[in-house]
Amino acid sequence: MNISYIIKFAIDLIAVLLLALGLKGLSKVRSARQANRLAAIAMGLAVAGVLINYLSTSGISIAAWTWIVLGTAIGGLLGLLTAIQVPMTSMPETVALFNGCGGMSSLLVAIAVFLFPLTNRSADLSNGKVELASIVVSVFVGAITFSGSIVAMAKLQGWLSTPIWTQSKLRHLFNIVFASLSLIAAIELIRGGQQGLWLLVVGSSLLGIGVTLPIGGADMPVVISLLNSYSGVAAAAAGFVVGSQLLIVAGAMVGAAGLILTQVMCNGMNRSLVSVLFGGALGANSSSKQASGEYKNITSCSVEECALTLEAAERVVIVPGYGLAVAQAQHTLREVTRALEAGGIEVNYAIHPVAGRMPGHMNVLLAEADVPYEQLKEMDAINPEFPATDVVLVLGANDVVNPQAKSDSNSPLYGMPVLDVQEARTVFVVKRGMNAGYSGIKNDLFELTNTSMIFGDAKKVLGDLLVELKELGVGKKN
Ligand code: NDP
Repeated sequence: MNISYIIKFAIDLIAVLLLALGLKGLSKVRSARQANRLAAIAMGLAVAGVLINYLSTSGISIAAWTWIVLGTAIGGLLGLLTAIQVPMTSMPETVALFNGCGGMSSLLVAIAVFLFPLTNRSADLSNGKVELASIVVSVFVGAITFSGSIVAMAKLQGWLSTPIWTQSKLRHLFNIVFASLSLIAAIELIRGGQQGLWLLVVGSSLLGIGVTLPIGGADMPVVISLLNSYSGVAAAAAGFVVGSQLLIVAGAMVGAAGLILTQVMCNGMNRSLVSVLFGGALGANSSSKQASGEYKNITSCSVEECALTLEAAERVVIVPGYGLAVAQAQHTLREVTRALEAGGIEVNYAIHPVAGRMPGHMNVLLAEADVPYEQLKEMDAINPEFPATDVVLVLGANDVVNPQAKSDSNSPLYGMPVLDVQEARTVFVVKRGMNAGYSGIKNDLFELTNTSMIFGDAKKVLGDLLVELKELGVGKKN
């Protein structure tokens, strides 16, 4: 056993441990930043480990070094620029794109190894078959992840809508054809035929598009999480292809964590994974804006009326949604809630699992504004508290407070657990107009007698509210 092998082994071990610690830390808002750093260091170590391994086994030509250094520099720079520039509200699209990149990398590695084998497959038959089987899995899952993620990103960005035909049973037929094509191609590939490789790339890419295209509306977060899991599975398969234990372990961890998150989100939204995958339960167009269905009897009020009601309240619940993130109103909100708390009013925040545009979006947003973690209440914990709540302030949220999800079995949101804000004494909804939320449907909450709309940008309304509360003397020490 030579020294560079021992160094590589030690580096791999540290990288795996850091990845595991990183994943664990990501489950809590407080430790998430540190966890992300640990995972980034692990990735850096992984790259170093691979280079050391190459040096010790075959050595690397100058040309190969140039490619590796150039690739790492360009990829690293692109990643850095994206991370700096992307606003929080576009994070799901970014995650979808990164998932797609992961899938594409595994796909390209597998294609490269098939065309330029690492072992002599005809001389070592059993190892050769294992390599080919790993290539099949890597190409199949990698291509599905890549094409599916690109479709998901385009839908989230509003570049692509859900075609009507994908809501018919016809889509199942197409997907069966693509899956059968992939199976035939996989058999051909294992027998060593090069046509099998290209047919598998085409068949599985089409399958990725076919299963993602019909999915829309509130089911999108589940799909992103599932594609994230797939990218891990594809990476693990690529690990088998190139014989990298580190890639196998890291890929398996991402695959398993993604699958657990998918299951948690499915439970949170009362969806079955199978129905999301094959049914595309919500066919709503993610880019639709105007709510379907006419509104009648909408009551709107001024910021001043809202301030007066808040002044008299004892218990207030804030419901943050996507619009709060768009308005970047979290800091102004914090100033408002500080004033209310100083006035002896109890304030809590109701967090819906899919509020915003990424899992944990509202937790991250409110953590930015130093909202105490103890005041963030999960949906199951806060729902029983609404009947004893004086005022609910819904800020840029829509789908997550839509009572249709419980009352109307024909609604596309039906079955998704929502925040029961209508149970509170008074509900104020702050939004710019009567536009629909992500699912594109009407919200019955806005027509209820205890609901008043306050129209305007969330940041502007909260700024005005702060002024009104100060004028009323709320939060001022006597
Ligand atoms: P919604 O998307 O349902 O509604 C957001 C509302 O915010 C809109 O109706 C909009 O109305 C209002 N709004 C937009 N900009 C502003 C602004 N500047 N000031 C005030 N209001 C504004 O948000 P929710 O958080 O309630 O629900 C999230 C939805 O997104 C769910 O359907 C979920 O499934 C989906 N989703 C979630 C993901 C996740 O992982 N969390 C990922 C992808 C999708 P108006 O234009 O009239 O102001």
